[in-house]
Amino acid sequence: MRVEVGVATDIGRVRERNEDTYLVEAPLYAIADGMGGARGGAVASGIAIDELETGAKKDKASLADLVRAANRAVFERSMTDRAVAGMGTTLTAARIDEDGAHLAHVGDSRAYLLRGGAFRQLTEDHTLVNRMVKAGEITREEAEVHPHRNVLTRSVGTEPDVVVDEDDVPLIDGDRLLLCSDGLTDMVTRDQIQAILETTTTAQEAADRLIKAANRAGGIDNTTVVVIAIHEDDELEAAGAGGTQEGRSEVPGGAIVVPGRRPSSATVKRWAMRAGVVVVALAAVAFVARFYVDRQWYVGESNGHVAVYQGIPAQFAGLRLSHVDVETDLPAADVTKLPVYQDLPSGITANDRSDALAIVEQMRTDLATSDGGS
Ligand code: MG
Repeated sequence: MRVEVGVATDIGRVRERNEDTYLVEAPLYAIADGMGGARGGAVASGIAIDELETGAKKDKASLADLVRAANRAVFERSMTDRAVAGMGTTLTAARIDEDGAHLAHVGDSRAYLLRGGAFRQLTEDHTLVNRMVKAGEITREEAEVHPHRNVLTRSVGTEPDVVVDEDDVPLIDGDRLLLCSDGLTDMVTRDQIQAILETTTTAQEAADRLIKAANRAGGIDNTTVVVIAIHEDDELEAAGAGGTQEGRSEVPGGAIVVPGRRPSSATVKRWAMRAGVVVVALAAVAFVARFYVDRQWYVGESNGHVAVYQGIPAQFAGLRLSHVDVETDLPAADVTKLPVYQDLPSGITANDRSDALAIVEQMRTDLATSDGGS
């Protein structure tokens, strides 16, 4: 597997400083978008990236552990240096190996994956507006133009401890992984970002065009992007193509060779991915089925009485697909004797809950009438 990297950062058209910092040091890639005070933002993102870089060289700690260490380092500095008190930063990091990308994330910088024609956000924004979207209080469209859309609910360095989101993403030939600060996503639509990733040849060309698009749209914030393209061209790898990455201060143009993997591991990965797809598909089917089942009602029997059920009168894979909503005092045996209700044991379908209750009331009336008549 060959990993091709493009990176670009820009101050934008409005800001006086670039407070974004990035790390491109194979196999580790990261973006930090600092905030706070006159110098605080750049100090915070710089400390976070330094800590990530030195921590990764020192030990085999998990990426999330490295982010937590970065959090402590930024926090301690903000406690001891009044000039940068209260500073913080986002941190979105990816470590790439033969199994794919391992992500660790805090804040509102983002990671996206382009695979084939599908473009999806891998990270969740830790912002107030995203919380409001999830609570159903505002729509995603409203969130995009909300005056407080940049208020973070989680950041690196503002508290002694931080919760870090983690994700493992298998990568395949042709994938493009994007790490970016909000200077890009606030200015350029998701569709435009996807189009640029799809229509550029090299990762560096993609990175440069993303920055240009952000500035053309106004460039209100600093923008930083890291584009990681995955190639399965083993021939190039065998020929020793590509160079090595020299730290974060240089813009890379070359490719990085990640140690090759055995075919068996590739096969295992593909099967694992297929299994993952099947699991997701089954989960979707289960979700839709649940949605459907929960909207069905019928009248049946429970403990010898007439009862209203939510669900459908059936079982699937040994699981009941219904539960009793109301158990009445009407004896089921008496009701079933009336020809019109002989289907009671197998369930009489209703349109909704009130319809089911109306059927029960009709049974009560019919039962009383038949009793009176006999
Ligand atoms: Mg920003």
